[in-house]
Amino acid sequence: MADLDLGPLDQALLSAHQPALAAALVHITGDPNWLRDEWKPAYVPLSRGDTGVPEEEQAKFRAEAKEALTRFFEGGRVMAPQPSPELLRKMMSFVAGADIPDGYGDFLSDELALGGTSKDPHWETPDLKAAARKMHVLVIGAGMSGLLTGIRLSQAGVDFEIVDKNDDVGGTWYENTYPGCRVDSSNHIYSYSFEPNHHWPQHFSTQPVLLEYFRGVAERYDLRKKIRFSTSVEEMVWDENRALWKVTLKTPDGAAQVVEANSVITAVGQLNRPRLPEIKGRDRFKGPAFHSAQWRHDIDLTGKRVAVIGTGASAFQFVPEIAGKVASLTVFQRTPPWGFPVPHYHEDVPDGFNWLMEHVPFFDKWYRFWNFWMVTDGLLPMVTADPGWNGPPTGVSQVNQEFRDMIAMAFAAQAPERPDLVEKVIPTYPVGGKRSLLDNGVWLAALQRPNVQLVTDAVTEITETGLVTADGKTHEVDVIIYGTGFYASRFLYPMKIRGRGGKDIHDAWAGDPRAYLGMTTPGYPNLFMIYGPNTNIVVNGSIIFFSECSVRYIVGCLQLLAETGAASMEPKKEIHDAFNIKVDEGNKLMAWGAPQVTSWYKNEAGRVTQNWPFALVDYWRATLAPNPSDFVLTKEAEPVA
Ligand code: NAP
Repeated sequence: MADLDLGPLDQALLSAHQPALAAALVHITGDPNWLRDEWKPAYVPLSRGDTGVPEEEQAKFRAEAKEALTRFFEGGRVMAPQPSPELLRKMMSFVAGADIPDGYGDFLSDELALGGTSKDPHWETPDLKAAARKMHVLVIGAGMSGLLTGIRLSQAGVDFEIVDKNDDVGGTWYENTYPGCRVDSSNHIYSYSFEPNHHWPQHFSTQPVLLEYFRGVAERYDLRKKIRFSTSVEEMVWDENRALWKVTLKTPDGAAQVVEANSVITAVGQLNRPRLPEIKGRDRFKGPAFHSAQWRHDIDLTGKRVAVIGTGASAFQFVPEIAGKVASLTVFQRTPPWGFPVPHYHEDVPDGFNWLMEHVPFFDKWYRFWNFWMVTDGLLPMVTADPGWNGPPTGVSQVNQEFRDMIAMAFAAQAPERPDLVEKVIPTYPVGGKRSLLDNGVWLAALQRPNVQLVTDAVTEITETGLVTADGKTHEVDVIIYGTGFYASRFLYPMKIRGRGGKDIHDAWAGDPRAYLGMTTPGYPNLFMIYGPNTNIVVNGSIIFFSECSVRYIVGCLQLLAETGAASMEPKKEIHDAFNIKVDEGNKLMAWGAPQVTSWYKNEAGRVTQNWPFALVDYWRATLAPNPSDFVLTKEAEPVA
């Protein structure tokens, strides 16, 4: 008798991702025959995972899988000995549907984390434990990266506290509550590698679900007691003599308080300081006007004439949600976004799928692996520039141009009756120039509604009652919603951060933020940034992966301090500079670095300050552990006489 109701098994098998289940069955049974050629997938790019395996073979697979799983559950869940590294490699290639290239095996094994967790610190020697107890680290931010940092510092035994300007955890998932807000990387990779959720209701869940996930993590790791909410960092000053940061906090009652920390880790995100456009008369508008990240739920949009400025990632999500309830909607577009066709973007995870996630050992891991592989480095060639490309500026290489044509066709097919609209919504810049959104048709459906108008003339002025465009027209509205993005390139803004010699980091950067591996910068000892300069990704992967790599590296830096007895560390200038030259060369070869693209990824001088230009595997390898010779390690300063 099984100790589990196997009633849902048939339905579960119908909704299974078969290659991932085949790999799980190799773990369970020890039989590599689950990887037989007849069941080897051949994927269609950007699909949900259609494997191309004929239906009769799929049915055969399901029948055998049912038998094996029934035996497993009824036989006391005895697992076969775990696969050898060679077999694991075969399982990876099988699930990926392609041979895993050299150099990816250890990276993907780490991400698979078959043994549970893989990036957790092990500060096990008595010396390290003692050193950990002497450290005090301040973490700024209790969003996705800050919570992760708290978990890792707890595991290392390092004393820390987290401050957050908000009154709850969750960061961006707490702040953005606009209608339709949802994640745009599959949840099965947009989650911590060590905290799988077997109950995602949708492939790309909505903001409340994400917020609950992060709240749950904060509870499980008992982090709330370490977090000071409604507390923001105003200023940090490096005390050269004592080798520590003196940090001025603004406490919930508005008072200033100075705390000290050996190291500071910033986990403040890149996208949370709303940017309103510099448009003449903006403050004159008499009606409600708000930014998408500060959604006014008290304003009922029903029957109102609404203007939306911006057509980026946020507007792409909330415009379809509000279009049906407003009297009229005028969307002001400066540059159209690209959208990858993802028909299942709003769909529920099918019945039975989560049953497999919960009950079949390793299925969750391999499904994550598949997701990870499909949307990460595999996409990079599509957005890499060919320096010899002499085609139109709508592409940066032959393959990029073909990719563009495919997506443009998918757009056009959604509005066959509206060539005027199609012309406006197909970007003239290359795919990958800006973040591509996920398109399941709701955007163009909304723009085709009779009460919706897409205006491409620039907004030149805002009046008390509406907006004026460059063609001289006035658009009278009741409400203005700004979907105009964030001050992303002002890293760490508005904190004042004075490092060696009292120099503020923003003055040092002078509009051109740089860091070594996105995390450390000369002159700012023991300051570690997560999601810092040049760590944003445009097409490949989930930013949680980046944070996990960064946090492992930063905790490695703290370990280096502990092991060497140094009081501070900062990157050698030549290492930092050489790294940035490589990054710049890399970004020039990517679609987002192309000269015809303007975006918030570039600073005023046209340098890409936001994005990582290489593969994920390169970031993973570079951040496994700090290389001591990359750093200036300074012994404890003499106490001031
Ligand atoms: P965004 O992508 O930067 O979009 C801002 C929009 O406002 C752009 O269309 C921009 O046009 C337009 N704009 C700015 N100033 C303007 C002006 N003066 N007149 C007319 N239009 C103007 O901002 P966002 O949509 O808030 O998204 C920011 C980032 O947050 C995204 O790239 C993504 O990384 C993240 N995000 C993720 C999700 C998700 O995962 N689900 C959802 C939302 C946001 P130009 O393109 O011409 O500058």
